[in-house]
Amino acid sequence: MRGSSITLPLVVVLSCAYQPPKFAVTHTEQRGRIDGNGLRFVIMPDRGATVAEVAVRYDVGSSDDPVGKAGLAHLVEHLMFQIRPDAPNAKPLRYYIERLATKWNAYTTYDETHYYTVAAPRQLETVLQLEAIRLHDGCTSISEDEFAREREVVRNEIRQRTGTPEGQIEPLLLASLVQRISRPESLATTRGASRICRLSCKDIICAVCDVSAYSSPCA
Ligand SMILES: [Zn+2]
Repeated sequence: MRGSSITLPLVVVLSCAYQPPKFAVTHTEQRGRIDGNGLRFVIMPDRGATVAEVAVRYDVGSSDDPVGKAGLAHLVEHLMFQIRPDAPNAKPLRYYIERLATKWNAYTTYDETHYYTVAAPRQLETVLQLEAIRLHDGCTSISEDEFAREREVVRNEIRQRTGTPEGQIEPLLLASLVQRISRPESLATTRGASRICRLSCKDIICAVCDVSAYSSPCA
């Protein structure tokens, strides 16, 4: 027998040594509060960023929905894009946001309503102006037709998200974990989808224009 060869396995040892990321966080956070209206703000300038984001959070969510008016906070979130600051037949706020933003949206959780807009840095002032309009104008310029259409949109969203047994898990878990939530239907379960049909345009105007009325049913 001629000499046999032995094949040795090739072992490649990959280094597991930690490699720090090659970028550095350079922004300096600034926090403050505006005396006139209590608005709290956080500014995080980052000169390496190619876009600017404006995120506005309202401390109101579905757990604040008055008894029998489940879905109100979520519906207000939708309608805040339909404000017509110039005139009843003028373009809604959403029209202007869509034209300058690279990304935008909003969502409502059990304790907050959150709007965000991402745009080119040169548009920052305009985005802030649009958010100021949303904060100032409320829902008084919403027509009955728009109200009915968005109510149906929200109703369908609730049915899509919670219309299955597994879709009910998260809201029911939250209701059991968070003491503040005493009404699971306020988390937009399928029961919320049917109850939202009872909401009227007046409920919305009442909720947005009078914060004190928001915690109790409108007269
Ligand atoms: Zn929605």
